[in-house]
Amino acid sequence: MLVTERTLVLIKPDGVARALVGDIISRVESKGLTLVALELKQATEEVARGHYAEHEGKPFYPSLLEFITSGPLVAAVLEGPRAVAAFRQIAGGTDPVEKAVPGTIRGDFALSTQNNLVHGSDSPESAEREIALWFPDLRA
Ligand code: GDP
Ligand code: MG
Repeated sequence: MLVTERTLVLIKPDGVARALVGDIISRVESKGLTLVALELKQATEEVARGHYAEHEGKPFYPSLLEFITSGPLVAAVLEGPRAVAAFRQIAGGTDPVEKAVPGTIRGDFALSTQNNLVHGSDSPESAEREIALWFPDLRA
């Protein structure tokens, strides 16, 4: 029996602006992952910096912060066996053309490596940190 884990997912501002929220959540539910939190939010500069702390100093960091704070996004916590890897599988690789294959969210709907529609935690440790950042009141 696989241990249940949680992952933090964002439907980034491009996904909300392009009205892809329903489709993306539908894919999450079809995969079998359970929603334990779901909220439309506006990322503050502080939360954005905390969320993308690992990318500070990279050439695309200022642009990434501007993008992620540019409008409303959907933050969610998903739960299920191997939830971290399962969501990254249905999201597809970071570069939506070179890495994400058709059938994935990015592979089907995105062209830009920055505006690539979704975020999913990359490890259970990252998930724990990101869930505390976006949903400080959510109980374990
Ligand atoms: P992810 O885990 O697949 O989301 O990818 P990373 O953790 O490597 O990067 C975080 C986010 O930064 C990506 O999802 C993109 O939105 C953005 N990003 C990554 N690489 C680049 C890049 O080379 N250029 C730009 N403009 N944005 C990037
Ligand atoms: Mg990442």
